[in-house]
Formats: sequence, C-alpha cells, structure tokens
Amino acid sequence: MPAPDPLPSILRRLDWLEDSAYPFDEVQRWPRGALDRLLAASILRETNPAREVTCGNCTDGCWITPDIVEDPRTGQIVCTGWCHDPEDGGLVTFSVDRLRMWEPHFEGLASFVARELDARGSVTALIPGRVCMIGSLISDGRCQDVFVARGLTWPDAAGVLAQADRLKASPSPVVLVPDQMPPVDFWRTLCPAVASLAEALVEADGPPRIDAAMLLARIGRVAPARHQDKPRAEVPVLTRTERDVLEALAASPHESMLLVELMAAAGYGRHATSQALQRLRALGLVAKPSGKQRKGDAITPAGRDLLAPQRA
Ligand SMILES: [Zn+2]
Repeated sequence: MPAPDPLPSILRRLDWLEDSAYPFDEVQRWPRGALDRLLAASILRETNPAREVTCGNCTDGCWITPDIVEDPRTGQIVCTGWCHDPEDGGLVTFSVDRLRMWEPHFEGLASFVARELDARGSVTALIPGRVCMIGSLISDGRCQDVFVARGLTWPDAAGVLAQADRLKASPSPVVLVPDQMPPVDFWRTLCPAVASLAEALVEADGPPRIDAAMLLARIGRVAPARHQDKPRAEVPVLTRTERDVLEALAASPHESMLLVELMAAAGYGRHATSQALQRLRALGLVAKPSGKQRKGDAITPAGRDLLAPQRA
C-alpha cells in the first residue's frame, strides 16, 4: 500500500483537535520527502521532543521513558530504556531522533494559502492559532478580504470570531477553513463566502499545492440563517472522556472491546463511557465491527488517524 499523503490528515487535525503532533516513527512512513516539503511550506513545524516512545523492540510496542545518555563506545548521544516484554525484553538503545515530533502550524498554513492564492497584502494573526487574515483578492474590480479560520465547529467558535474585529469589519469576507465547514446557521450577522481547503488540495508527489481556481469556484456565499432555532450540528472537538475512550480502543489488542472492558481500560463509569461511545460512533471514529466474530466497538481508520500518537 503506498504511503498516503499526510496533508489531508494535517488539515483534518487542525479542525478536529486543539493540539496534535506527528512522532518520528509515523513521519518515517510518509512518502519520501513529504516532511521536508511540508516544513518548507511552513505547514508543519518541529515541536518539543516526546518524553515517551514505544520501545521499538517487542510486538506490543511497550511505552518507555528513555534516558538520554552518551554511548561510551561511539561517543554519540542515544536513548536507552527497558522493554518489558517477558521474552524479548531488556535494555534497548536507539537514536534520539525517535523522540522528535512535528505539529501542524496554523499560521504557517495561512501563509502557505496566501502564497497559493497570490493574495495581496500581508498575513496577520487576528486570534493566534484560530483566525488569520491573509490579504485580499482582487477580481473583476471587486476586492475581497480573505481569512483562514480553524475550529469553527468548536463550542467556543462564536466567541472567538466575536473578537476578530478585522473580520467583522470586512464588507465582503471570504473565510477558508482547513477541513470542517461550520453549519450554515453558525453565521449570525456575518455572511462570508466559505470554502474548505481540504477540497482544493492538488494530489501530486511534489510540493503541497492548492488548486486556487477550484477553491475560488467553490467559494459559496452563505445565505443569512433563517431558521435560527434549528439544532446545531455536532461539534467535532473531542472531550477528554471521548479521547480517553478512543485511545483505549486504539490500544486494545483485540479488534473490538465490550463496554465493560472499555470502562475498565478508559477509567470511566458506564454512563460516561456509553455517552462517549455514542458520539464517537456518530462522528465515524468508532464502529461496530463487521461480521459476528466479536461484539463491541472498534476504532475506525479515521479514529486512529485523529489520535495524537504520543501520550499526554
Ligand atoms: Zn517492548
């Protein structure tokens, strides 16, 4: 199976998780050169090294907190730790590179989009980590201010936008989101044109690209909401409980887990666990396994992708 392009995952994580990082082992599985291209485009940046990694020795991949020491034979700085596998366990030594991690960089993404769209003006963070103005687009004598905003489906989104004065003052704003468009009734007084960057990615082996023409064609003007009492769509940001339940499922040696097993593994009561499960199923992150071999719930590929692979 060819390694998938990591860019769709990065855009998805920007809209689904407040913070996330890709560890060295995962980045190693990306297509050759992908990391360098994403760093050059400023869409990713290196972040603090992990304190815990899997041992890289046993099939379970037990977690260890390595010591960083000088190898007396080579003089190189290396990691050492204990693999707890009953058969093959023991002292393991590996490169400190395995602790390196990279995170999606929202402001860097905004600058990348500004270059791809050839926007006029400079990139300004209006609300750090959430809303950037990336300049203006001029076409047919019309000038539109363009913004990139993240987490518009999160519970605090309306409050965040309320602080973005430059966006509120714009007569004809375009709002680009990494992945998730907010529900139409999200917009109250602002009526921006909205589009998702994920839909305009160009799939190619080279540097990351956005199909500007496709993006501009997709920008639809949002009509003012008429039915303001309509229930709001689900908010994708995961609660701590939901994340813990998802992580417990990801760590399960079996394909699926029963509710009682999940309660024990995630450390929550019956009510909290089944509520979390219900929402994770609705979001497509967890599903009943097909076939009848085992009851319970299993994590889906989309769910696995969302997990920051290091532990908090
Ligand atoms: Zn191990």
